Amino acid sequence: MDLALNGKVAVVTGASRGIGRAVALALAGEGTQVACIATSADRAQATATACTDLGVKSIAYGVDVSDSQAVHDLARTINEEFDGVDILVNNAGITRDGVFMRMKEDDWDRVMDVNLKGAFNFTHALTRGLLKRGGAGRIINMASVVGLAGNAGQANYAASKGGLVSMTKSLAKEFGSRGVTVNAIAPGFIETDMTGEVPESHREMMTSAIALGRAGTPDDVASGVVFLASAAGAYVTGQVLVIDGGMRL
Ligand code: NAP
Repeated sequence: MDLALNGKVAVVTGASRGIGRAVALALAGEGTQVACIATSADRAQATATACTDLGVKSIAYGVDVSDSQAVHDLARTINEEFDGVDILVNNAGITRDGVFMRMKEDDWDRVMDVNLKGAFNFTHALTRGLLKRGGAGRIINMASVVGLAGNAGQANYAASKGGLVSMTKSLAKEFGSRGVTVNAIAPGFIETDMTGEVPESHREMMTSAIALGRAGTPDDVASGVVFLASAAGAYVTGQVLVIDGGMRL
């Protein structure tokens, strides 16, 4: 199958580690040039270097995805340095968990600002260019199964991910006539820094609820991104691809 990713340009937010790093490397492995974004360029540099080692152009950039002006300025730089962008992966995300009655306003705002507004900022800044790329543009938003089912102690995170799903469907309708697909991925329990602090007892309980009997890896999620970004995913839009090993069955 020809994925037709060779020579394309992708922007991957949250590319310093975890799922974003795996996504950047998987796309680079298919010949895609990658702009790797993290909170600072230093933090994304190792991923960019690893992508370059795979034979593609890759540059590390630093920005707070919630900072609208900074994201628009960076988008202009990326468009110039890569001569346009074909694929946007809105992956940067944070948690600030807590039971709702004790959740601080700042915990709500920060999670919404990074997870939801961050995706808005990058999509807003890059869509004009994506729409001009001859009908092969791709936007992929990293949601979560928590955004579909909710989760006690994660009202802010779940709301941000549910918002991403609704934004995905709306933009799929809005951009469909221009040939740009917009999809979301909803990972389940994936081994990264984000889930590293889950206590062992809770981890066992979660793993036992997964049909495949194990937590997912960042590469499991990256495979889904590659499919949706590729020519193979050209007729898929407005969808949520659940990658959870059968956790929600
Ligand atoms: P992670 O290991 O904690 O990595 C988070 C990434 O986001 C890092 O690259 C981080 O950059 C970046 N980031 C955080 N805040 C940022 C900001 N304000 N501006 C720019 N970059 C920022 O997380 P992960 O587990 O790989 O998760 C990646 C995505 O998948 C997230 O959206 C998460 O919600 C989602 N997800 C994860 C799981 C899971 O089980 N792990 C499940 C469902 C969904 P720095 O290194 O610079 O901090």
